[in-house]
Amino acid sequence: MDSLFADVALGIPSRGTFQYAVPPAFAEKIKPGCRVWVNVRARRLVGTVTALSPEKVIEDPKPIEGLIDETPVLDAPLLALTRWMAEYYFCSWGQAIEAALPAPFKKGKFLMKSRAKKIANGVESVDPLNHPLTADQENAFREIMEKINKKEAGFFLLHGITGSGKTEIYMQVIGELLKAGRGSIVLVPEISLTPQAVERFHSRFGDGLAVIHSRLSQGHRVEEWHRIKKGEARVVVGARSALFSPVQRLGLIVIDEEHDTSYKQEETPRYQARTVAAERARLERAVLLMGSATPSLETYFASLHKDTRRLFLPERIQKRPLPVVQVVDMRREPAAKGEKIFSRALEEAVKNSLKKKEQVMLFLNRRGFSTHLHCASCGYVMTCPNCRVSLAYHFDKGALYCHACGYRTPPIRLCPGCQKNYLHYFGAGTQKVEEEARRLFPEARLARMDTDSTSRKDAHETILKKFKKREVDLLIGTQMIAKGHDFPNVSLIGVISADTALHIPDFRAAERTFNLLTQVAGRAGRGAIPGKVIVQTHLPSHYAIESAKDHDYEKFYSKEIIFRKELGMPPYSHLIQIVMSGGTEKEVVRQILLFAKFLKERLEKRGVSLMGPAPCVASKLAGRFRWNVYLKGNSIEEMVPLLRESLGEFKRTQVALTVNVDPQ
Ligand code: ADP
Ligand code: ZN
Repeated sequence: MDSLFADVALGIPSRGTFQYAVPPAFAEKIKPGCRVWVNVRARRLVGTVTALSPEKVIEDPKPIEGLIDETPVLDAPLLALTRWMAEYYFCSWGQAIEAALPAPFKKGKFLMKSRAKKIANGVESVDPLNHPLTADQENAFREIMEKINKKEAGFFLLHGITGSGKTEIYMQVIGELLKAGRGSIVLVPEISLTPQAVERFHSRFGDGLAVIHSRLSQGHRVEEWHRIKKGEARVVVGARSALFSPVQRLGLIVIDEEHDTSYKQEETPRYQARTVAAERARLERAVLLMGSATPSLETYFASLHKDTRRLFLPERIQKRPLPVVQVVDMRREPAAKGEKIFSRALEEAVKNSLKKKEQVMLFLNRRGFSTHLHCASCGYVMTCPNCRVSLAYHFDKGALYCHACGYRTPPIRLCPGCQKNYLHYFGAGTQKVEEEARRLFPEARLARMDTDSTSRKDAHETILKKFKKREVDLLIGTQMIAKGHDFPNVSLIGVISADTALHIPDFRAAERTFNLLTQVAGRAGRGAIPGKVIVQTHLPSHYAIESAKDHDYEKFYSKEIIFRKELGMPPYSHLIQIVMSGGTEKEVVRQILLFAKFLKERLEKRGVSLMGPAPCVASKLAGRFRWNVYLKGNSIEEMVPLLRESLGEFKRTQVALTVNVDPQ
């Protein structure tokens, strides 16, 4: 028999694939997409065959030690997709493949004993039948189906507020695909994978549904993977990584709440599921359907200027009213010792709801690593003159920094806005809010949910269950607490401070604030009681707050996009963040300065600009000092090869380097 050689991708940072010889014993069965055992510097590793060839390209290829799969775990489109990811996201093909497979596959495992499986767990069947669609739903449905029936790739933004009937459209399109023997993937933010939300899909699709979330045991995950691969489950609902499910004859990928930040993976490969889903849709000629009440600027921009089609659902089902949003100007509150947490209006409203035996939710934004300087009298916040990003105070350095461009200034005491001496650091934690709430509303049954009180996996669910059963009157937590839940008895939602989101040191701060306020408001008024939302802020006339108050996405977009254009930020450009970290700050700074200079010379003549260096927002993590530079250019496909080339030539020592493409 002729000799055969395999290109093998390994889950190590080294780029490219490695050639191995295929022993005759495996020659019949081995195929691209199969995993194999190989030896790398005396270590046994799992790799994936990406190609086979009779031609030897290296001197003396080592043999493959073992063949793990008899049928490929990755079919041709998924192999192509992971290869594309490696190029775009600056990682190795093997690392992209590892992100696409259930974790046990990395250890060479494959067969799991099948256990009898039961999804239904005491949740009653909800909503098993299709609703007759409203006219707006019908229009959207028809356009999507037209594209699907043409078997072309297509991109849609389904723009509609919570309760406007987006999920109903997803389910009916999926139903049509099932009739044609085709499959679908539905991505939702991890936090929305609540039993209630899953049950809605389960009651429509029964055992044809596979659910993938982080609470699944690894064995269970592998089992779901097999059910999907065999075509027993043709509908997959899951968080980010479900995007790589081996669905056959894929017709539809849904990304619900497409603006959600959990779609970006924050470890290698640092991919954005939206971007990868678009590529998978292209490769498999499927439709990508992105749903949101507050589309990301990128997606909305694409719907105006690129190939994404926007479908609009202007009102809630049964015309349920939108909650009334009241903005409270904290600058007009009587001065308090320390930070003022409850305005008079919010305190009054909470008491009122409690008296009527209705429930209340209070939201706080999660706190960042560093804080902004903020004037309690006029709302002034120090921002970077170059980037408009809020300056972050780094305690250890005794200075305010722009983490994007490196602009630096000493902290000041006197507010440049009103000349008063009211500058201070802002950001009450959930604990402080809880203390104050206990003092003001001693009779209320209170629960707090944040990362501290919910570190145990089920604690989260338990608190929400209690709240749902009305054993808790007042729930305090971060904005994440109640996604995907319906609480019909909630009549009041309070946002303790919209400003903490507004001043995160990020050019997307206004977008995040608008999203946050809109999502939070969407929690109110879900049942018979009309909802009320109170938002506290020092900047009541900021466009992010005003547009959220008016439920007006277009108004927000039209203001925000002007700033993005002026500064050349996304969606007018793409960014790549490069982080250098090390044990001694002096060394990190020395090398990143050299690196920045080196890069600048090479990239600027090719239309890529460089910002920084600057300390990262989290400038010290786990004992390591972190600085970053940003590249800004028009196309990732052009920037990444330039960066690879430059990195190959730049000699660095004792510092680690990470590359984050399209950082969020
Ligand atoms: P969204 O996903 O935009 O939040 P949903 O699809 O969940 O909206 O719809 C909100 C509520 O309205 C759900 O309870 C759903 O069952 C119901 N619903 C959706 N479409 C219809 C319809 N055409 N007729 C009646 N009820 C509907
Ligand atoms: Zn700056």
